[in-house]
Amino acid sequence: MSEHVPHDKSELVKLRSVNDLRTTMGQYFERLREATETGSRKIAWCTSVGPAELLYSMGFEVYFPENHGAMLGAGKNADKYIPTAVAHGYSPDICSYLTSDIGAFLQNETPLQKSGFKSIPRPDILVYNTNQCREVEDWFSFYARHFNVPIVGIQTPLCISDLNPEIIKSVSDQYHRIITELEKVAGRTFDIDRFREAVGLSHDGCVLWSQVLQKATHIPSPINFFDSAIHMGPIVVMRGTSHAVDYYKILLAELEERIENNISAVPEERFRIYWEGMPLWYKLSSMAKLFATLDTCIVASTYCNSWIFDDLDPSDPFESSALAYCKLFIVRSETVKEKVLVRLFKEFTIHGIIYHESKTCARNSNNRFGMQNRLIKQTGIPYLEINGDLNDPRCYSEEQSIIAIETFIDQLEGKKN
Ligand code: SF4
Repeated sequence: MSEHVPHDKSELVKLRSVNDLRTTMGQYFERLREATETGSRKIAWCTSVGPAELLYSMGFEVYFPENHGAMLGAGKNADKYIPTAVAHGYSPDICSYLTSDIGAFLQNETPLQKSGFKSIPRPDILVYNTNQCREVEDWFSFYARHFNVPIVGIQTPLCISDLNPEIIKSVSDQYHRIITELEKVAGRTFDIDRFREAVGLSHDGCVLWSQVLQKATHIPSPINFFDSAIHMGPIVVMRGTSHAVDYYKILLAELEERIENNISAVPEERFRIYWEGMPLWYKLSSMAKLFATLDTCIVASTYCNSWIFDDLDPSDPFESSALAYCKLFIVRSETVKEKVLVRLFKEFTIHGIIYHESKTCARNSNNRFGMQNRLIKQTGIPYLEINGDLNDPRCYSEEQSIIAIETFIDQLEGKKN
């Protein structure tokens, strides 16, 4: 199978699987649209690292507002909507997924209208887990009030160092407790075998996603962060279904084929970078081009690695869900995070680290309490800090960042020589 290899460095080598990705995501939205319009299935909203498996096992179609937030960011529309949320009392300093999503809702606009939706899917219930941040509870509460529907959640302790049995039991008990409300809304009884099945599928999807990301340990890497940020869609929104499993088999096969044929994501990979923090959704493609022209591949990131819940175990679905969703990077202590990062720097042969300090996401900006200094002492790997935001382009100075990135790569070049 031949693949087009570009001559211009900024011309990226596209993954063929992007067509299957479009189909898989298109079918997901079609299922949601059909359920919304016909009322044939109930709709649950879920946070991106919430109990998706439980919801799918109970027959809900599951909608993820963070995925919608990322769509608004990638569509470069967030700054059009954020001021409306601000006018309704939401600070411009809190999560710009939240402010752009609520702002767009108040303006009655959504990118889903292009796919035939009249508006975002109306929830029958909202389900969150605070493992990632407290913002999600406030975000979902806005919609619970607006639609006058039930909201249930799992409260996870923050900055976990030791994942002790008390924490696991407390989270597992909360999984049990939300079932009563879910049953009322779903109009069916919880079935442990269906839950086991969803947990098993989620596990399999996560293992495949992990294998996809691991392919970037190969030098040169067949995939970069900008590809992964797009191809992670199914593991976020279809975790716990066979759709995600089927898609990642296709993507994995393509990456294996690329390695066999020595096709790399960046045509002339010389430097390998770790991306710490959130993507800048409105700059994905220009950044991908910039790094490619600098012969630099961003081979690994905290963000994409966050959806590897390989502790899920169908033989013990409650406790293993509690473990998997408490083990998540964002919810761990600085010491645990540092150990994870050092391991990843080694595994992916990292030459430099970029910390994205995202103005409106404190929980996913890990350079705020000196981690970058501790890690350079420990590993000697140079780093660069970039100020920006996940969705709000007004927080990002492109000119300044490009100069900083080019200078950083020059430094790596000097170090290499
Ligand atoms: S983790 Fe950050 S980006 Fe995600 S919902 Fe929370 S504040 Fe927003």
